[in-house]
Amino acid sequence: MPPPELVVDARAWRGEGPLWDFRDGHLLWVDIDIGAIHRYDPSSGADEHQDVGQPVGAIALRKTGGLVAAIRDGFAFVEAGAATLIASVEIAQTTNRMNDGKVDPAGRFWAGTMAFDLEPGAGSLYRFDADLRVHTMLSSVSISNGIDWSADGRTMYFVDSATGGVDAFDYDAETGSIGRRRRIVQIPEAEGLPDGMTVDTEDFLWVALWGGGCVRRYSPAGALSTVVELPVSQVTSCAFGGPGLTDLYVTSARAGLTSAQLVGEPTAGGLFRHEASVAGRLPNLFRD
Ligand code: CA
Repeated sequence: MPPPELVVDARAWRGEGPLWDFRDGHLLWVDIDIGAIHRYDPSSGADEHQDVGQPVGAIALRKTGGLVAAIRDGFAFVEAGAATLIASVEIAQTTNRMNDGKVDPAGRFWAGTMAFDLEPGAGSLYRFDADLRVHTMLSSVSISNGIDWSADGRTMYFVDSATGGVDAFDYDAETGSIGRRRRIVQIPEAEGLPDGMTVDTEDFLWVALWGGGCVRRYSPAGALSTVVELPVSQVTSCAFGGPGLTDLYVTSARAGLTSAQLVGEPTAGGLFRHEASVAGRLPNLFRD
């Protein structure tokens, strides 16, 4: 297996939220703290970015065009590079910020919060519906992170990084409600913290390991199947893209690394691409 290729030497502070925009064949991603939305063009290799004015944790595609985003204060629409806050969430403005998120099979956008000071249990997971109302789906979340759904739409996977694992929930696409929760993957702290994730066409989970320098693929039962090593330690998230959806794009971060550590991993904060032997799925569209 060839090593992942560095496609953008972006030196992002906290590269995150990769999203394949299949409408025009670009890979979108964010640099959270900087408040930047990047757009990488695989055909030219160019990477452009726009600043939306406040931290942006995740973005998703709207069915009507443009993007929906989890920005620091809540849910926003982004058009022509400008973010308009549509629904704010609780205490987010002062102590918390929005973090990772994704659209579910029925077109609702889920995203959660974390405390700026990492206070345990201070975050929540929210669901932003087509009627532009926000529902609190989980509370007492520490670092709300990766989320995705099984192909049959009956299971939701969710990462609260502080708990060191991936949980599965029964999920009802009709109502958007979640039920029985169980731990399916537990990662020893010394191996890294689970961060962003995606589910492929075989229903296996690809989980980025912050501090672990890799992306791991797990079966739905939690068995480790593949490890993709990266030349950077703070691997943040991954998403499939490309014409056949077999290019696994992986984001990374420089945040918190010392200058000595950066000598050892000069491409930290880069965007990488791994040729996978399995395909991913198209991202769901937010249906407002
Ligand atoms: Ca994350």
